[in-house]
Amino acid sequence: MKKILFFASLICAVLLSAQKKYVMIIHGGAGTILKSKMTVEREAAYREKLSEALKAGFEKIQNGNNSVEAVASAIVILENSPLFNAGKGAVFTNDGKNEMDAAIMFGKDKSAGAIAGVHTIKNPIKAAIAVMRNSEHVMLSGEGAEKFAKEQNLEIVSPEYFWTKDRWESLQKLKQKETTKKLKKTSQYTLPESYEIDQKFGTVGAVALDKNGNLAAGTSTGGMTNKKYGRIGDAPIIGAGTYADSQVGISGTGWGEFFIRATAARTIAAKMEYQNKNLKTAAKETLDEIEKMGGDGGLIALDRDGNITMPFNTAGMYRGAITEDGEIFIEIFK
Ligand code: ASP
Repeated sequence: MKKILFFASLICAVLLSAQKKYVMIIHGGAGTILKSKMTVEREAAYREKLSEALKAGFEKIQNGNNSVEAVASAIVILENSPLFNAGKGAVFTNDGKNEMDAAIMFGKDKSAGAIAGVHTIKNPIKAAIAVMRNSEHVMLSGEGAEKFAKEQNLEIVSPEYFWTKDRWESLQKLKQKETTKKLKKTSQYTLPESYEIDQKFGTVGAVALDKNGNLAAGTSTGGMTNKKYGRIGDAPIIGAGTYADSQVGISGTGWGEFFIRATAARTIAAKMEYQNKNLKTAAKETLDEIEKMGGDGGLIALDRDGNITMPFNTAGMYRGAITEDGEIFIEIFK
């Protein structure tokens, strides 16, 4: 009997040590252009940027910085790239503006910061972190958020900095579809048809686990093409598109209205906390619920033991992970 127990625990130990512990995961949005439309060069460019972001975050963790620093450095790289719908590659609103949202949450003490509807802050994630650290508030919006960012000495750019040809053309295409009424009806919401052909989402997000075992999650986005009336999505809403506590960190991407109504990120954490569900089950059940409601998208989640899950119900999701040994994984399609 003793022998059996000894061998059983030995097998368990071997299996556990074979399991990779992840320290950081990122996403560059769900949806993605179809595989048939993805060129080799374009795919390589995405992979390269995602790797660069993962390496930057990993370096912070290796150097003993906390998970917020790791998330920030990864997201800043993605915000500065026109490939993603955040910062420089942000999509356009109906009236031709780039209006960005971002949020950060630190699991250790559940501190959080967010900004919404800003046009001139070069790196919205930095402003969200400044709100978390240097204000008594959680979410600032519009002009007030921009004034605060200036006072915090964050880099302010002219709104034209965010203009990109691809995103501008997406808006024109979508507006044309709107006038010809080629819109697809999904539940009580109307999904513009070109979302299905085009980039669709493209928000960026990161979750990191630092050497002290603390998790942080961050998300940054330009929202959805053709959004109107100062629409704000799920990304800056704590518990919807972004959430972290001592057990898990989550960042979402997808049709924000559904993530908000499903309180997606917090629901995953709650399933783990109150129902003892594991990470994968909690995340899958939540995304299934969003799908049932008529929404789509994906999310990334990392728990305190270094387990990850990255489910999505779209054609693809730009995503990547790095282990504590520095091994990088990047995937785009299913
Ligand atoms: N979730 C974002 C929003 O609704 C869009 C995205 O994921 O790209 O604002």
